[in-house]
Amino acid sequence: MKTPLLSINNIHKTYDKTIVLNNLSFELGHHDKISVMGPSGSGKTTLLRLIMGLEKPNKGEIKINGQSASNPKHIVLAPHHRQLGVVFQNAALWPHMNIEKNIYFPVGKNPSKESSDLIHYLCEQMNLFPLLKKYPKHLSGGESKRVALARALAANPTLILMDEPLTNLDKALKEKMMIMIEKIIQDTHKSLIYVSHDIDECEFFSSNIYHMKEGKLIHAS
Ligand code: ADP
Ligand code: MG
Repeated sequence: MKTPLLSINNIHKTYDKTIVLNNLSFELGHHDKISVMGPSGSGKTTLLRLIMGLEKPNKGEIKINGQSASNPKHIVLAPHHRQLGVVFQNAALWPHMNIEKNIYFPVGKNPSKESSDLIHYLCEQMNLFPLLKKYPKHLSGGESKRVALARALAANPTLILMDEPLTNLDKALKEKMMIMIEKIIQDTHKSLIYVSHDIDECEFFSSNIYHMKEGKLIHAS
């Protein structure tokens, strides 16, 4: 059997006395796409922060490509070595950099031809060329989200984590963004974990839907 891209083995995560993740296990294969639903406070963002390597589990282990990435003692694999692209609800662009610099930041000052070609493709798909010299404070909500997505994909990550990325957009803009994101994820063969409390978004991105329930991921079927 092929080694999973991500394996989460019996992790527990508690804050003070609150149990957030409770013996959660899960595997994601290469090119798999899943959606995760769950009410506010159910631990969705906590799970993503553990996958990113921003937090350690209290028990259990996370592996990436079969290699240990996190355990209760160590963040073995640093967040920037995990080949992840992350998009949050808040676009979190760097305010002091123009859009071009924001997008190129993950690939450094001298990007390879491959990186430049990928970024060119992303700007084309998301109609970002007119925005490149602007600063984040001059962008609309939808424009900021497009830039955040381009920045998340610029370094050609293996796995994309999206944490309620389309919340707060109006319906028409949300639908446009969904179609655009789906096309880019398909074109670039990414794996995806899409987190939202919106069933329509979750179903759109994957028929493989999980619910965060009592600290575990339960497959909806
Ligand atoms: P969701 O993303 O599903 O809304 P979160 O993962 O953000 O849920 O939060 C799950 C629970 O963990 C909540 O009860 C939240 O208050 C708690 N929590 C999250 N981060 C922290 C933290 N850094 N310190 C203390 N409690 C936290
Ligand atoms: Mg959250």
